Amino acid sequence: MEAANCIKCGKVFARTSSMFCPACEKAEEEIFENVRKYLTDNPDSTLDEVSEATEVPPKKILKYIKDGRITITHGLVGELKCAKCGKPIKEGRFCAKCALNIQQEVVELFDKRSDVGMHTFKKEEKKDGQKPGAGKR
Ligand SMILES: [Zn+2]
Ligand SMILES: [Zn+2]
Repeated sequence: MEAANCIKCGKVFARTSSMFCPACEKAEEEIFENVRKYLTDNPDSTLDEVSEATEVPPKKILKYIKDGRITITHGLVGELKCAKCGKPIKEGRFCAKCALNIQQEVVELFDKRSDVGMHTFKKEEKKDGQKPGAGKR
C-alpha cells in the first residue's frame, strides 16, 4: 500500500487516482454537484453569483469549465478567456482562431525539425561509413 497526503486536510491515506482522501473526495464531489446543480437551475448567473451562492471560489468554477466537467452557461460566457488573445471562449484554453494558429506553428516547427534531422543523418552516414549506426551527435 502506498500512502499519500490528502492535499486538502493533510490526512494520510492509501493512494488512489485521487489527490484527496476518501472523505475529502466525497466532499469535493458534493461541491462539484452543488455548482453543477446551481448552474442547471440558474444558467443566467454570473461567475460571482455562482461563487457566492455555492461558496465555491470563482477559480474553482472556472477550472470545472476548463476541465470540461460543466458546460458554460449564459451568465458565464465571457468569464473564460483565450489564453493567447483574451477573446471570450466557451471551453478549453484558446479560441478557435488561436487554436488553429498554434496547430500550424507546431506543424511548421515539426517540419523544420525533421529537415534538420535528415541532414544530420545524411552527413553522419557519409562520415562514419565504416561504422553504421555508431554515429555520435
Ligand atoms: Zn482529506
Ligand atoms: Zn485567441
